[in-house]
Amino acid sequence: MLEYQAAKDLLNNKTILVTGAGDGIGRAASIEFAKHGATVILLGKTVKKLENVYDEIVNAGYPKPAIVPLDMKGATEQNYIDMADTIAEQFGHLDGLLHNASQLGALGPFEHIDLTSLETILKVNVTAQAIMTKSLLPIMRKAEHASIVFTSSGVGRKGRAYWGPYAFSKFATEGMMQVLADECDNTSVRVNSINPGATRTEMRAKAYPGEDPKTLKTAQEIMPSYLFLMGNGSIDTNGQALNAQ
Ligand code: NDP
Repeated sequence: MLEYQAAKDLLNNKTILVTGAGDGIGRAASIEFAKHGATVILLGKTVKKLENVYDEIVNAGYPKPAIVPLDMKGATEQNYIDMADTIAEQFGHLDGLLHNASQLGALGPFEHIDLTSLETILKVNVTAQAIMTKSLLPIMRKAEHASIVFTSSGVGRKGRAYWGPYAFSKFATEGMMQVLADECDNTSVRVNSINPGATRTEMRAKAYPGEDPKTLKTAQEIMPSYLFLMGNGSIDTNGQALNAQ
């Protein structure tokens, strides 16, 4: 996947929503999608970070993005319905949805799982993604080809001690991807998941505080797979659990 080379105009005329667009992998994906011609809708929690990504995209001369400040922890179904209506008004349809935002929570033994933290992680990593997808599906079905990408993790494919709610949430993500992909089979909407692999971001540093970040791939370096999944080269790829590295 790392060797995939995207054409410069791969995403011309596509509108793509990226969650967690202000930092880490979401930030890199937003800039990379814009660089390949997409109009990117930047959704995230911290407005300042979204504004920085917005400025970077505009200053580079890429298509002007849009900003949606939203904390997925507190967001309601109505927030997502309103967002879908606004996207429909402005763009008519949606070609791509990258579910990237996630919370790691505290890692530790099962006996230490905290209910509040468990509920927050499941809300942000699973419930919010399901309801957002439900709200956006009608406008994704209006696109000629649409791609939904869920972000998984190694611990969402094989359980690992001490990874707690984050790991279960990623198993749920894979399950959500499979259910929706099966429903969308032979339609214009394709649904896949991607495991970024160890990537140099704040989340990774929090999970592995003793690790030298320089030994890891940067978010920019893992972008070829994200471009592949958003571009029309993947229109026959559905229901796959892919690895970015
Ligand atoms: P970061 O923590 O660097 O970035 C996460 C992004 O999600 C931030 O922009 C953050 O916004 C946003 N976010 C978090 N909570 C919410 C919320 N409640 N509402 C809206 N936005 C929110 O993570 P990474 O870039 O490392 O991770 C991206 C994805 O890749 C995640 O799904 C992660 O699980 C997955 N992943 C990452 C790996 C890695 O090695 N980095 C490995 C395997 C999987 P803000 O900055 O405003 O808080």
